[in-house]
This record gives sequence, C-alpha cells and structure tokens, in this order.
Amino acid sequence: MKELRLILGDQLNIEHSWFQQCDTSVDFVMMEVRSETDYCQHHVQKVVGIFLAMREFADTLRRAGHQVIYLTLDDQANQQSICANLARLLANNNYQSWSWQQPDEYRLEQALYEFASAQSIPSQCVSTEHFLAERGAVAKLFKPGAHHFLMETFYRYMRKREQVLMAPDGRPISGKWNHDAANRAAYDGAVNIPQPLTFANECRHIVTLLQHCQVKTIGHIEDTIDWPVNRTQAVELLHDFITELLPHFGRYQDALVDGQGTLFHSRLSFALNLKLLSPREVIQAAEQAWRHGQVDIEACEGFIRQILGWREYMRCLYWHLYPDMSESNHFDHHNPLPAWFWTGDTQMRCLSQAIKQSLNTGYAHHIQRLMVTGNFALLTGVSPSAINDWYLSIYVDAFEWVQWPNTHGMSQFAEGGRIATKPYVASGAYIHRQGDHCRHCFYDVKAKSGNNACPLNSLYWHFINRHFDLLKPNHRMAIVLKNWQQRKPEDRRAVIDQAELYLSNINQL
Ligand code: FAD
Ligand code: SF4
Repeated sequence: MKELRLILGDQLNIEHSWFQQCDTSVDFVMMEVRSETDYCQHHVQKVVGIFLAMREFADTLRRAGHQVIYLTLDDQANQQSICANLARLLANNNYQSWSWQQPDEYRLEQALYEFASAQSIPSQCVSTEHFLAERGAVAKLFKPGAHHFLMETFYRYMRKREQVLMAPDGRPISGKWNHDAANRAAYDGAVNIPQPLTFANECRHIVTLLQHCQVKTIGHIEDTIDWPVNRTQAVELLHDFITELLPHFGRYQDALVDGQGTLFHSRLSFALNLKLLSPREVIQAAEQAWRHGQVDIEACEGFIRQILGWREYMRCLYWHLYPDMSESNHFDHHNPLPAWFWTGDTQMRCLSQAIKQSLNTGYAHHIQRLMVTGNFALLTGVSPSAINDWYLSIYVDAFEWVQWPNTHGMSQFAEGGRIATKPYVASGAYIHRQGDHCRHCFYDVKAKSGNNACPLNSLYWHFINRHFDLLKPNHRMAIVLKNWQQRKPEDRRAVIDQAELYLSNINQL
C-alpha cells in the first residue's frame, strides 16, 4: 500500500507525527509552483525565503531516511499548480491513498477539497499539529450571533486552557491578566537597541531561478537573506530574542524610532508562519525566562499575549469571518493607494521610513503596520481590497490567514468592528508621542493647517467628520466626536479644507 503525502511550503513542522518514523510505503511531495508564486506579487525575500526553507526541509527529511519528491519551479514535469502536480503523480504511480495537512488559507483548502472529491483514490486531511486553538474556538466561546469577539476573553480562555502563567488556584500567576499599563512606552534611549540577529543565507541561485521563470516580485534582495530558513536558525533566533530583546519587549513594544525598524521585536513571524517553530515552544521559552528571573512579568506577559492571544485569535477569526466578510467595506472606502506606497518616496517621514524599510527587508513591526501605514490608508479612504493586496505583498510573513484579519479587521475596521472595539486612527500627535520621526520630518507635527502642517492632523479630523454618524454609536469614540462638535465652525472648515487639499494631492505628499 503506497501513500503520497503533500507538504505545503508553510508546513515545515519537523515535529509533526508524519515524520517521527520512516516508512518505505510513503512518498512525501513538495513543490515550487507558479500558482503560489503568482497569486499575488510577493516580496522577493518571501518567495526566496520559502523556497530555501522548503529545500532545506526536503534535505532534512531525506537525511532522516524519508522518501521525498521535490519539484523545483523549473522542473520540466512541473504542472505549476499543486492540484495538477498531484493529479499527475497519482495517475502515474501506484498510490493507494494520499494525504495532506490542513492548509491555513481558504483558497488552498477549497482547491484541495475539490480536488480530493474528484479523485477515485481515497485521501485524508490531517492537522498541521501547529496551532494551539482549534479553528472553531471563537465560535464556541462567544454567544451565537455575537457581533464582537473580544481578544481579551479569548486570551484568558487560552491562558487557562494551556495553563500558561497560571497559579494552581486558577488565577493568573501575577494576580493580573494584563500588564499593558506598564508596557508600551515611547523609546527613551535608556537601553541600547541591539543589532538584529541575521543569517546571511546564500540565495542568488533562487533569485536567478525566479528571474529565469519571469516571476514578478516586489522589494529588494541581496545575495543573501537574513531570515531563518531552517529549524536550527529559527531556534537560534528564538534564543537570541529571549536573552537579548525580551527583557525590553513590552516596554518598547509600541515605540517608533527613526532609522530603527526592529527595536525589541522578535522577527519570529516568518519562522512561526512557516512552522519552523511551534507557538508552544515560543511561549514556553518566554515563560521559562520569567521563571528563571531573566525577564520581568510585564515583558513576559506582553509577549505571550501576542502569540497565545493575538496570533491564535486572528487565525480563529479568519476562519470565522472569511470569506463571508471578505468584501465588506464598513466605511465605503474606494480610493487607490498613493503611488508612493510602492516606493516610500514621500516627505512624510514616518511613512517613508516604514515603507522603504518594508521594501528593503520585507519586515515592519506591528506599530508601523497598524499606526503608520494602516492608519494612513484608513484616514485617506483607501479601499480595503487595495490595502489588503498591499499587505499580502509586502511582508515576508504575509499569509492570508493572519494578514487578512489584521488588515481588513484590526487595521481597516472594514468588517464593522468584529475584531477591534474602535477604529485604529490617530493624528500626528500619536506618532510624535511614540518616537522621534517628527523631528526629522518636512512637516510640522504641531501645525493643523498651512503648507507644511502634518497631513495626519487634518486627515484625522476629516475621517471623524465624514464618518461621524457611523462612529456615533461607538461609546469609545464619544470624547473625540464631542471634541469635534464643540469646535467653532470656521475652525472645522479650515481643517476640512486642509485635508481636502492633501487628499487631492495625495501622490505629492
Ligand atoms: P513581535 O512584535 O515580536 O510579536 C511576536 C509574535 O507575535 C509575532 O511574530 C507574531 O507571530 C505574533 N503576533 C503579534 N501581533 C500579532 C497579530 N496582531 N496577529 C497575529 N500575530 C501576532 N502578522 C503576520 O504574521 N503576518 C501578516 O501578514 C501580518 N499582517 C499584518 C497586517 C497589519 C495591517 C497588521 C496591523 C498586523 C499584521 N501582522 C501580521 C501582525 C504583526 O504585526 C506581525 O505578526 C508582527 O509585526 C511580526 O513581527 P515580529 O515577529 O517581530 O513580532
Ligand atoms: Fe509623520 Fe506628521 Fe510626524 Fe511627519 S510630522 S513624521 S508626517 S506624524
């Protein structure tokens, strides 16, 4: 009885039960295909990083004695889609069954289920054995028909269920579920920001392959890439994070520093999303560091919340809301992205730095994504589909199951507030408070109108004004709305005029 088992490019989990013993009746198949390189225009470092990691994974399996069929992008036999390759392999070999691990993206899951149901050879879909929460956890946890799914509720449920930072009496070990109040300061220079750990993985051969096959990508690449492409490197990155960065992670989690794109962030998302690391081991490493007195509870809890809370929650919400809400557009926004989102050539320092860094490295930290680029797109009425496409393209860690709920929901509020309790919008004052971009900017963060007034100031109030009625029922917006209403009509007019001037010259900002 021969079996074929499919391993997708983001299923590089060597701890999976499939790989625990060698079986001569099993062939694993991995493939580099155009259907995956072309479903959006990816950052070049993402495609290169995934192909390098897949090739290393195939080698690891072979060294361990497994049989692996590996189709490179330029293989003559490659049909360039996962299902077409499976069809050829199943037709030409004597397989009695085939299996695949549950894909994390809707489009792939649909394609594989459709393919499987059309085959006469029996198949089985198994778990990736990666995530901690089952996909339906959000639906089970909240009342049927619930409009909003509070992350905090989900997070506490996960803390109890997984017994993370919990005391034997069932309460949080520090007496508090949430240490955010002690976190999220602006960067004050009290601690030096360490150089990020990078790996210099040779990649010219893959870049040449992509060029040869005319795969369209965006962004910059050198002869090596910094991202971890095997488990050893991923574990090294995790340990470096725990010792060098975690002690200051929580405190500077929301900081924005000019010329500094990584701060105390872990840069673990690429390795986690490829499943080179398991969320459980990352959480355990952080908890152990606290238990051994290496980090304080604020940093430890702040970080664990990202993995056990946000990451798992976002995945559950993706499966709960997608694809039903994929076309939703709560604010009826239809503008295109300014052209400089693809170059970073804007005089707005905060945006220029976040975008240029993203194009150069395929990375931006959460606050750059949420409060810089995401904020600008929301304030200026960019269509959710345009900004979704951009986020899916620009980051090495961008996979729809995590990109979509973060962009469509958390950042753009396009699903009407299932994820965020209020829209994440801010004027220049927020960026100014969190860091030093404004000191280096052409625009004046204190000015509300006039030639060099920070565009975010008037755009913020333009957003509030144009969506006043939609925002009114949200009690978290009450103070802001009242503030706007109480302004003199002529002041309001001046701000709106300024914003409209900026909106009509958006490509020149
Ligand atoms: P750290 O700040 O060190 O956080 C540690 C880990 O926590 C991350 O590696 C990640 O796995 C997890 N995490 C933290 N916040 C979130 C979150 N909101 N959702 C899910 N996981 C989280 N993350 C992706 O992995 N892929 C994406 O495509 C993606 N797109 C995003 C788009 C927008 C508009 C926004 C606002 C956020 C997006 N995020 C995405 C979430 C988050 O910004 C990134 O996970 C994080 O910046 C990755 O950098 P890091 O590994 O240094 O994270
Ligand atoms: Fe950004 Fe405005 Fe500050 Fe310039 S002044 S960096 S545009 S917030």
